[in-house]
Amino acid sequence: MPADLADQTDFANAGRGLIARIEPGMIMNADGQAVFDADQFSLITGDCPGTVHPSLWRQSQLTASQGLYEVTPGIYQVRGADLANMTLVESRTGVIVIDPLTSQECAAAALALYRAHRGDRSVTAVIYTHPHLDHFGGVLGVVPADTKVPIIAPEHFMEHAVSENVYAGTAMLRRGMYYSGDALPAGPTGSVGMGLGTRVSHGTVGLIAPTLFITRTVHEKIIDGVRILFQLTPGTECPAEMNFFFPAQQALCLAENATRNMHNLLTLRGAQVRDPRSWSRYIAEAVELFGDQCEVAFASHHWPTWGRDNIRAFLREQRDLYGYLHDQTLRLLNRGYTGTEAAEMIEMPAELDAAWHTHGYYGSASHNIKAIYQRYLGWYDGNPARLWQHPPVEAAQRYARLAGGPDQLAARAREFLDEGDMRFAAELASHAVFADPASAAAREVLGLAFEQLGYGAENATWRNCFLMGALELRDGIQPTTVVASAGMASALTITQLFDTIAIRIDGPRAADTALSILWYFTDTGERYFMELSNGVLIHHPTLRTPEVDLSLSLTQPQLLGLLATQSLDGIQFAGNPVVLKALFGLTDEPDPEFAIVTP
Ligand SMILES: [Zn+2]
Repeated sequence: MPADLADQTDFANAGRGLIARIEPGMIMNADGQAVFDADQFSLITGDCPGTVHPSLWRQSQLTASQGLYEVTPGIYQVRGADLANMTLVESRTGVIVIDPLTSQECAAAALALYRAHRGDRSVTAVIYTHPHLDHFGGVLGVVPADTKVPIIAPEHFMEHAVSENVYAGTAMLRRGMYYSGDALPAGPTGSVGMGLGTRVSHGTVGLIAPTLFITRTVHEKIIDGVRILFQLTPGTECPAEMNFFFPAQQALCLAENATRNMHNLLTLRGAQVRDPRSWSRYIAEAVELFGDQCEVAFASHHWPTWGRDNIRAFLREQRDLYGYLHDQTLRLLNRGYTGTEAAEMIEMPAELDAAWHTHGYYGSASHNIKAIYQRYLGWYDGNPARLWQHPPVEAAQRYARLAGGPDQLAARAREFLDEGDMRFAAELASHAVFADPASAAAREVLGLAFEQLGYGAENATWRNCFLMGALELRDGIQPTTVVASAGMASALTITQLFDTIAIRIDGPRAADTALSILWYFTDTGERYFMELSNGVLIHHPTLRTPEVDLSLSLTQPQLLGLLATQSLDGIQFAGNPVVLKALFGLTDEPDPEFAIVTP
């Protein structure tokens, strides 16, 4: 029972309540540079071209819709002004903003569009559903940094706002270029969006720390006359996340826990694996808590669901989706199947598959199942033949030797390409490229295989990854354009800030150097001991006053300045300041444009 391409329900719901479009679609920053084009995917109309999977074509038409929509009287959404939705809930004296988008320019434009049609209401509260950048980065577009209105978030919001992106941030950004397809032109042979939405904006990112934390289920709050019942959902789509219900409006906000696609258990940009078991259970709990009173359910991506029965069916299917992936993967891994094997074996039950919203446009059953294997058992599949394999270049040279050289290997890859086995063609051709990156034949075959894999993918992020691979094989490495969480360094703890130095220490160069520093923070009274030992930068809070090479008295903002400028200007110190210079001299620069499809 495949999903029905003739069913227009989603199109009706995605267009329901349209008040006004975002016009002009181009959102600019103060310098007149474009930060987001709400119409960039407007060309995705009409019949599906042969270069896009029909199911993805359908989803991309839906995610390309943009404008201000009435969800229910008193609740509005601006959709398509960034990757995520901004939701506006009218309160006694103004309006509550849920999830102020990625960048301040888009958030300001969305709020202005709302105000143009609903009156110049002041913002009376901001709610962050969870600490992913596309849900809070634009907060300064809706309230000033020194706002007195409550900023509401699930507990542990701040630790997760930055921690997910701090340590592996550069690699995630580079990999993020692939899954977002940001460097690809929009269109039938390029990107058709991200499945979850169109694209992320490129404006100014900021963060105001929450002032009111939700700490339990059900946590009830009355915000400017609006009663809200909060359900904490930790360990779902994000380690800190929450759903919440508006009893007077009979409206349920599902954050990013139940959207109109199968979500990621492991995003292709890289992250820690999420927990599908908790995810499924918190959806069940939402039905239990609010299902009987709910007339509309909306989320921070995609369009709402109206009607109690529709909502219950939608949530039951979303619940079953993550539960099924989890339980079936565990069943198979306990029978000895690896993640790669389980990913080929598990098919969704027919009734789930018949619902469009269970399809993997952003996450996929294939990579989610491998992620569940990874969550429980890790990278090693248990077969010692794969315990100590050669790395890519060394393996590639050996595969090329077997074939008689990289060009012969590319020729064999082309045979598989011609037979329609794009997956194996890509595998062989990738070996050929890694054996000889200058081989035009190898690059050509790999590019063609990637292109066909991209055109055939139902998943938008797979499509973007494959097409980015093809693009970089042909045109070289594309500059990184995706949003960095820069500007959020002030949200890091001192330990996290010191960690950012520690993970850049060049171990081999630092191995013979010993140095020690005592940091005294005059604003918090905390003291940290730091020493370089065996190429490792050790640091921890201390109550002692050990003998050190250098001691510094400073504030946390001064530490940020010091890290940015490597200068001790204005900072009190005792001992040898050259130590600090030596330390910074032993750090390595991350490479934001590392090669992926070539060695
Ligand atoms: Zn999101």
